[in-house]
Amino acid sequence: MANRQRLLIDLRSDTVTKPTPAMLQAMLEAEVGDDVFGEDPTVGILERKIAKLFDKEAALFVPSGTMANQIAVKAHTQPMDEIILAKNAHIYYYETAGFAFHSGVSVKLVDTESGIFTHEDVMQNIQPDFDWLPKTSLVCLENTSNKGGGSCYELENIHNIQKTCTEKGLKLHIDGARIWNAIIAKGYSTEDIGRSCDSISVCFSKGLGAPVGSALVGDIAFIKKSRRIRKAFGGGMRQVGLLAGAAIYALDHNLQRLTTDHLHAQAISEILNKMEWVSSVLPTETNIIIFEIHEEKTSVEQVLSHLQENGILAVQFGPKHIRMVTHLDISHEMVKQVVKCILSH
Ligand SMILES: *Cc1c(COP(=O)(O)O)cnc(C)c1O
Repeated sequence: MANRQRLLIDLRSDTVTKPTPAMLQAMLEAEVGDDVFGEDPTVGILERKIAKLFDKEAALFVPSGTMANQIAVKAHTQPMDEIILAKNAHIYYYETAGFAFHSGVSVKLVDTESGIFTHEDVMQNIQPDFDWLPKTSLVCLENTSNKGGGSCYELENIHNIQKTCTEKGLKLHIDGARIWNAIIAKGYSTEDIGRSCDSISVCFSKGLGAPVGSALVGDIAFIKKSRRIRKAFGGGMRQVGLLAGAAIYALDHNLQRLTTDHLHAQAISEILNKMEWVSSVLPTETNIIIFEIHEEKTSVEQVLSHLQENGILAVQFGPKHIRMVTHLDISHEMVKQVVKCILSH
């Protein structure tokens, strides 16, 4: 059993990473206080660090990326408003219709497979001002796009969208659960991203490898409002410096190494592209590999079980698709094993 566990190559998600002894040590050493009273020094350090990284005034530590996004939608909108986002966006697809439940807003979905859209798409989806139509008030981008296969926005594209939002009086939120991957892949900076939007949510428990936690970043008024909403959502936490300590450690140690995850994903993607039982692979720009099965040659079930017999876990991602995600618990040796296993199917 112990042996089997050691051999497991878990590519289901970059959320499966476990804290290292060094990260656990950083957590143990974190000074703590009651953060509902605003007295946790380590949370304070993390929030200031994140705000500075993105050249914004303030940040808020929250338990999950979902809560960060949901708070942003709530803070930027009124009931009966509408938000523009990709049809495969996490906020629409994977957050249990929280936008409707918490904020009473409608969604206008941009038709995009890559998860990326442009300022022209924004223009086309803004509602005219009539009593019988919802009021467009917010645009949400996802960078990188999860269902788009880890695709990234070009900075110029974001700038054009920001310009349109400013002209039309819309707020711009970036779901940056994997913004670190986009930054590493595209070469723009955290400051570039922060200056391009009103708010951004970032995650410490994916590529950076912390056990729990995300942050929402924006101006002082927005974060003050968000803090109240976080409390109402049940996300006020007490001696949470333990987790903030892990997030600080993750930022200081695990950001640059994302390049390795991207190289690993490319190696797997290249082999998949050569397999006749794979009909297509989405362009692999970061750490996510999404590929489509050629149903005359094999099936999703057969591929997943062949992988599993070889100690490799991946997930079904749509009727004919499989997703693999590389992360800091995936070694070079493991990638070699994955490649070998794919070649033997
Ligand atoms: C994972 C993810 C989230 C939400 O993160 P949780 O911490 O799991 O709630 C939000 N947006 C994107 C694009 C994600 O991939």
